[in-house]
Amino acid sequence: MIKILQSGNPVLRKICRPIKPEEIKSAKIKKIIKVMRETLEETPDGVALAAPQIGHNLRIFVVSPKAFQPQGRALETVFINPTLVKRSNKKKIFEEGCLSVSGVYGKIKRSEKVTVEAFDEKGRRFFRGGSGLLAEIYQHEINHLDGVLFTDTATELGTITRKDNKL
Ligand code: ZN
Repeated sequence: MIKILQSGNPVLRKICRPIKPEEIKSAKIKKIIKVMRETLEETPDGVALAAPQIGHNLRIFVVSPKAFQPQGRALETVFINPTLVKRSNKKKIFEEGCLSVSGVYGKIKRSEKVTVEAFDEKGRRFFRGGSGLLAEIYQHEINHLDGVLFTDTATELGTITRKDNKL
């Protein structure tokens, strides 16, 4: 099993680079996506994973089928070169945890609803909207791609006891 990098590792602080269109279907990117999927599947308390968390400074994240309602999807959804194209002015306080900041949860204010534009593994552009947990995931994962950890702005760190939905 691939190790998930922990806070303090400089890889988590770099700005990740976009994937070139002709690179999306390359063996190298396919392999990285495969490993990301496997790593997330082997991490029962995780619902999403960004490429830098397993050591690649590339703009990719994957979301577990567990995060989608209703749960019908068999595979993780892959987001390549994701951007937030819309975010609600309305904010919500999320109780958040991160696979790269083991055991620590905190409170963080994020938009309640967002829309992401991204490319799938076949290089097709798509848009996906989400609220609640999904909105939280999209904002948290894009933060990872910009070298930002939730602990940079979260409050009440370590005061919340939870074991689920790490991002
Ligand atoms: Zn995280």
